[in-house]
Amino acid sequence: MDFLATVGERGHRDIERLRSLDDLAGWIKHAGISTQETLLKDSDLSEAKTLRDVMVRVLEDLQERRKPDVADIGALNQAAKRPPLRPELGAEGHGVVLHADVLVPSVLSTLARDFIQLVGSGEVDRVKRCADPTCNMFFLDKSRANNRIWCATEGPGCGNKAKKRAFVARHRHAE
Ligand SMILES: [Zn+2]
Repeated sequence: MDFLATVGERGHRDIERLRSLDDLAGWIKHAGISTQETLLKDSDLSEAKTLRDVMVRVLEDLQERRKPDVADIGALNQAAKRPPLRPELGAEGHGVVLHADVLVPSVLSTLARDFIQLVGSGEVDRVKRCADPTCNMFFLDKSRANNRIWCATEGPGCGNKAKKRAFVARHRHAE
């Protein structure tokens, strides 16, 4: 879901957060993935964006109860064929670092594998879009009741923004 969030305000302002190879490298670093490779290729960026678009289309199709495109399913399965990230146990015997042997292909393979598991297991019913129309972010609803409507209820997320708006509106009323 973090990966899908690299387009902000989807369908509204569509803020592209993977504009350059640096952005992609930054995202990978932020995800805590260790690697020997430091040089990314232009094809890495285009592959990452293509896979992200495929995932969004498949999610949208499933949410609209449409059958996803054969080519999109093929692209997911193809991405998952490459060697995924592998876990490395820390020297002290605890802690796990995810290591990429071929950086972007490994990252995309792992993302594709996770996505396939999510969709294939029926967990896709828990994938929702934020109720804030300017946000529209995909998120995974882990609540037991499966009734979340905002992408985040804590921190700077939309749930909090909505709560603040409601609070301000109530107080305006009281004056
Ligand atoms: Zn949101």
